[in-house]
Amino acid sequence: MEKVKVTIIGAGVIGLAVAARLAPEFGPELLVIERHESFGRETSSRNSEVIHAGIYYPPNSLKAKLCVQGQRQLYELCHKHDIPCQRLGKLIVAIDEAEEKQLELNLGTGRENGVNDLELITAGRCRQLEPAVKARAALFSPSTGTIDSHSLMRFYHQQAKSLGATFAFNTEIKSIESTTGGYILETTSDSFSFSTKIIINCAGLEATVLSRKTGIPTPLVHYAKGCYFSYTGKSPVKHLVYPVPPAGGHGLGIHATLDLGGRLRFGPDLEYIEKPDYHVDSSRKNLFCQAIKRYLPDLDEKRLEPEMAGIRPRLQGPGNEFMDFIIRDEKKAGFPGFINLLGIESPGLTAAPAIADKVAGLLEDS
Ligand SMILES: Cc1cc2nc3c(=O)[nH]c(=O)nc-3n(C[C@H](O)[C@H](O)[C@H](O)COP(=O)(O)OP(=O)(O)OC[C@H]3O[C@@H](n4cnc5c(N)ncnc54)[C@H](O)[C@@H]3O)c2cc1C
Repeated sequence: MEKVKVTIIGAGVIGLAVAARLAPEFGPELLVIERHESFGRETSSRNSEVIHAGIYYPPNSLKAKLCVQGQRQLYELCHKHDIPCQRLGKLIVAIDEAEEKQLELNLGTGRENGVNDLELITAGRCRQLEPAVKARAALFSPSTGTIDSHSLMRFYHQQAKSLGATFAFNTEIKSIESTTGGYILETTSDSFSFSTKIIINCAGLEATVLSRKTGIPTPLVHYAKGCYFSYTGKSPVKHLVYPVPPAGGHGLGIHATLDLGGRLRFGPDLEYIEKPDYHVDSSRKNLFCQAIKRYLPDLDEKRLEPEMAGIRPRLQGPGNEFMDFIIRDEKKAGFPGFINLLGIESPGLTAAPAIADKVAGLLEDS
C-alpha cells in the first residue's frame, strides 16, 4: 500500500493555503486530494470575495483573531505576488436609532478585536462618500476590500506544486480508518487506498461528515445557503455597503459588493437548507429589493438579476448562539494527527493564511 506523510483533503482556498504553507517543510511528502477536476469548485468560488477587517466576531474568538491576522497577511501577499485586490473601504449604514446604537457596539467590538482604523461618521459625511445611500450614521472601515479569490487560489496551488506537493484531482475520499501510527484512506478512484500519518481535513461542506464517519465526536453542520443578485449597468456606489447585521450572528445582511471589474452585486441572504443546492430562485427578488431599498432607496429594480449561490458550512444552527471555527488536532478524542477544520464559513477566505499558520502550529506541537 502506498504511503504519504501528510494528506490534505479538499482543494478549496483553505486546503490550498495549508498546502502552500506546509510545502516548504513536507514538499513531496504532501498530497492534496480533491473530488473535482480542479481546485476551488465549491464555496471558495461562491462568496463575496471580501477581505474583512474583523469587526463583528466576539473578541478572542478564532474568527476574530484569524480574520484580523489574515487580512494583514492577505494584503501583503497580494502586494508581493501581484494578486488582484482593492482596498475599497466599507460602510455599515444605520437607518434608525436602534441601528445607530448597534453601530457603537460594532465599533467597540471591532476595536477590541484590534481593528484600529474604524470611524463612526455622520449622515452628512456618509452622503459625501456615497450620495445614493440613505443613512442616519455609518461605521466606516477603510481597510475592508475585495480580492480575486481565483488568482489567490491559483497562486497557492502553484506555490505548493513548485515545492513538490502532489495534487490528486477527480478523487474523492470515501472512508478513513484509524490504524497504528496513522490512517488508511479509501478513495473512489477504482477503490484505491493509501496510508498517511497526518490528515488535514479541509473538506468544507463535507468536513464534518468525514470526521463523523471516522468515528470522531463532531458537531453537526448546518447548510446555510446565500443567494446573490447582480446589478447590470453602472454601480450607484463606490464602496462596499452593508446594513447593520441582524442580531445573533445570523449573516451580515444583504450587502452591496463590487468585484475587481467594478460590477455590483447584492447578497448573500441566509436560508438553512437540508442538502447543498445552488439554484437561485428569482422569486427571492422581492426580498432583496426590500432589504436593499432600506439603504439604497432609488435602486432600479429592473437591473437586478439572479446570479449565483454559495453555501456556508455553519456549526451555528437557526436560533443558536455564535459558534466559532473549530481547528484542532483530534488527539484528545483518540485520533492523533487528524487535524479537523470545521465550520469554516465567513471570514474563511480572509482568514486563509492565518488558518494555514494555525495548522502549521498544530503540526509543530504534535
Ligand atoms: C455566500 C458566502 C459568502 C462568503 N463571503 C465571504 C467573504 O466575503 N469573505 C470571506 O472571508 N469569506 C467569505 N465566505 C467564506 C469563505 O468562502 C469560506 O470560508 C472558504 O471559501 C472556505 O474554503 P474551504 O476550502 O474550507 O471550502 P471549499 O471551498 O468548499 O473547499 C472544500 C473542498 O473540499 C472538497 N471535498 C469535499 N469533500 C471531499 C472528499 N470526500 N474528498 C475529496 N475532496 C472533497 C470539495 O470538493 C472542495 O473543493 C463566504 C461564504 C459563503 C458561502
